[in-house]
Amino acid sequence: MTQRTHIIGAGMAGLAAATALAERGERVVLHEQARFAGGRCRSYHDATLDCRINNGNHLLASGNHAAMRYLARIGASDTLTGPDRAIFPFIDLVSGASWNVRLNNSRLPLWIFRPKARVPHSHARDYLALRRLDRAGPDDRVQALMGDLDPLYERLIEPLAIAALNTKPAAGSAALLGAVLRETIGRGGASAIPRYPKLGLSESLVDPALAFLRAHGAELRFGARIQAIGIDDHTITRLTGPATDEPIRPGDHVILATPPWIAADLLPGLIVPDQHEAILNVHFRAGIPPGPSGFYALLGGAAEWVFEKNDVVSITISAANDKVDIDAEALALEVWSDLRRAFGLPRTMPAYRVVKEKRATFAATPAQLRRRPGTTPLINGSMITNLSLAGDYTATGLPATIEGAIRSGETAARRVN
Ligand SMILES: Cc1cc2nc3c(=O)[nH]c(=O)nc-3n(C[C@H](O)[C@H](O)[C@H](O)COP(=O)(O)OP(=O)(O)OC[C@H]3O[C@@H](n4cnc5c(N)ncnc54)[C@H](O)[C@@H]3O)c2cc1C
Repeated sequence: MTQRTHIIGAGMAGLAAATALAERGERVVLHEQARFAGGRCRSYHDATLDCRINNGNHLLASGNHAAMRYLARIGASDTLTGPDRAIFPFIDLVSGASWNVRLNNSRLPLWIFRPKARVPHSHARDYLALRRLDRAGPDDRVQALMGDLDPLYERLIEPLAIAALNTKPAAGSAALLGAVLRETIGRGGASAIPRYPKLGLSESLVDPALAFLRAHGAELRFGARIQAIGIDDHTITRLTGPATDEPIRPGDHVILATPPWIAADLLPGLIVPDQHEAILNVHFRAGIPPGPSGFYALLGGAAEWVFEKNDVVSITISAANDKVDIDAEALALEVWSDLRRAFGLPRTMPAYRVVKEKRATFAATPAQLRRRPGTTPLINGSMITNLSLAGDYTATGLPATIEGAIRSGETAARRVN
């Protein structure tokens, strides 16, 4: 019988692994516990708003090469949209000031010498201090390393760090933020152009992948939770679950692409990040004036990023463990008040939906980074020969992101031969 690769989990990591293998002509079986794919990155119909929404606003950058490669593979490159250059509009709710940070395309950061392209009242030399992030050690945190850069810190570094790391800058790893910036802004504006789905996350990143997999003969099993992994002599021999009893034959491979807490349950002894941060999204049936990018960064309120999408306005609050227990209506009212201040919207709050992703990502702190396993982890001191791990929590060198998850899936797929 031909060898098969069993992939557990159809989030970005699992789909990236599955499509990379299917493209190579490998036999793939995808086991997903839910009735749908996408995991933490998906869209669905919301009955209250009577429209499709994303579980959360997700932003990619043109420099996310693995994500762009994945989209090209599944034939979905043209489903993304965004401005044609790296432009980031900011509104300060406290002072009422607004400005656009506009990067030039080339690697030479000429924009930092142009007062109208950079943060108001900042100086070109402030931006040179961003190089501190390149020299950051494993225990350096964003705020301690960069917090003295006034006003650049509050007006640019802090909001970027919270969005990129989903961790408060007092705790977040400076080295990890440095890694994100090196791959995007550090390569010039052409690598930092914001990209997001024209329609929804599933329409861009999930549905075309499933169609690709079906067309390549992959077996997709939904409602197929894997509950136990049988291991004999350092080799996986069986996958079992309520709807699964699957022998793993010699030559078969298993890619475990679940979130970290599930991976640790299935593989006792596996060390994974065990602290998480929430992301809250509030979606309103409302419109805001179109801006140059399709989104705005808000400073000084509860809402952090605002995305305009047809007749829905969606706001994101990251690193939100301290807000996750706030009652949904109270949260929506607070955020609506921010939107009113920023865009002069009416007093009456329209229909809304609050989506709380409690374990949106692992906390990107130095201590948690040390718990990220590699693709072929040691478990209780030994390796499992036919196992690879994938997922945003593995040691990708990036925070928990679509780009990191896709890279981890591609790395796992390369191990299958
Ligand atoms: C609200 C929000 C906003 C975000 N914003 C951004 C952003 O702007 N930019 C960005 O790049 N990233 C963003 N992220 C992060 C990004 O969504 C994740 O890093 C990425 O989707 C993780 O993919 P994954 O495949 O590693 O894990 P998951 O998406 O968690 O996928 C794991 C899959 O495994 C399945 N599974 C679990 N247990 C089992 C089992 N026992 N058997 C079978 N299947 C199982 C799950 O159902 C799931 O489908 C955001 C995340 C959230 C939640």
